[in-house]
Amino acid sequence: MTLKISISGIRGIAGQSLTDEVVRNFANAFAEYTDKGKIVIGSDTRLSGEHVKSIVISELCARGCQVIDIGIAPTPTTQIAVRNNKADGGIIITASHNPPEWNGLKFVRQDGIFLNETQAKELISIYEDIQKTAKTPKEETLIGSLCKKDPTALDKHIELVKSSIDVTAIRNKGFKVAIDCCNGAGSVITQKFLKELGCEIIAINTDTKKIPPRGSEPIPQNLSHLCEVVKKFNADIGFAQDPDADRLSIVSDEGVAIGEEYSLALAAMFILSRDRSAGKKVLVTNLSTSRINEDIASGFGAKVIRTKVGEVNVSEKIKETGAVIGGEGNGGIIWPVVGLGRDSIAGIGLILTMLAASGKKLSLIVSGMPKYSMIKDKVELSVSSDPNKILSSIEKLYASEKINKTDGIKIDFSDGWLHIRSSNTEPIIRIIAEGLDIKVTQNRIEEVKRAVRSL
Ligand code: MG
Repeated sequence: MTLKISISGIRGIAGQSLTDEVVRNFANAFAEYTDKGKIVIGSDTRLSGEHVKSIVISELCARGCQVIDIGIAPTPTTQIAVRNNKADGGIIITASHNPPEWNGLKFVRQDGIFLNETQAKELISIYEDIQKTAKTPKEETLIGSLCKKDPTALDKHIELVKSSIDVTAIRNKGFKVAIDCCNGAGSVITQKFLKELGCEIIAINTDTKKIPPRGSEPIPQNLSHLCEVVKKFNADIGFAQDPDADRLSIVSDEGVAIGEEYSLALAAMFILSRDRSAGKKVLVTNLSTSRINEDIASGFGAKVIRTKVGEVNVSEKIKETGAVIGGEGNGGIIWPVVGLGRDSIAGIGLILTMLAASGKKLSLIVSGMPKYSMIKDKVELSVSSDPNKILSSIEKLYASEKINKTDGIKIDFSDGWLHIRSSNTEPIIRIIAEGLDIKVTQNRIEEVKRAVRSL
């Protein structure tokens, strides 16, 4: 069964596991959750997007919600539009980095952050009640009077980012920028944004009507075409997004995909370096993100706070601590001056401001940063396995080390770390390790896998 209902929203194969009924019942549940409030709707470019959106909008309107449809928009644009419109919530129609035949719904609250675990559980329980009664709406839907289109959301997002970066410095440099938007929701806004920054643009995968020719995640193995384009056209930098344009990764001027862990690290380095009072500043990220962030923060006397995995946990901690920057190692940069969600547009603005301010080539900046190897692995569990038991035996295995139990088990060694947690959605133990030496790192992964299998 491919329908995934979790605290980070719902995802499934459109028309198969993600049926019209599931979409309708979730829209109905969100109408109830927001007490028939004002709801902003945005979607990525998936072929099923219009169909799913029409069901969501007609259900919300039938329930008496006021709907603002901002059209195709990056996930962070919709999050910002919820705040700009003083809405009660938002629904984003996207399956993020899942393959094109998938789609899903993500739920945003008033402050532009996704529902947290407690709130998501409440929404899911309303959905389950609705599902039990399984009634199809009979009401006459008055979409015309209750649904407004707002074509200004992309421009407002661009203006917000522009007001927070050094536009003049970027324009003066006349950067040559290659982009790969995965034919996704970033295709239009990214080109418009870069044009307004006076950049020369070389764009690939910006046809929103086509299925993307590469894997959806902006990870190095999916970016060989972008790397070639950067080299061929002598670009200063390449930027890659995922289909809903919350994640950003970077290709250097030498045509090398530097890895998505460096997106947040570079943004953090710039934000902390330009602020004289950086010592009082906080960077927030999750437990599975690279240690480069500690290295960078300590260089400026700043502090890193680690949260459980899940964007909402990072967003809420940034809000709570007044952190100056945060995000995730998967290319998710959260710049609270712009918004509390991962935002590739804010990321591009920050990285270009950094390049303009430093006057250095990106490859040179990156060569001065720490180099770690990160390995991500998993072990599938049998139905009878108890993930909690497994985690506590692993804890015993590393009893003499420094252990953090905020989210599974994180073990910090002097030269790296191991993070072992059970998946929220599948019977899987995820193992992530990072270290200065790739062999040592691989051995640590194998040690944990052996321990899990022996139980
Ligand atoms: Mg995404």
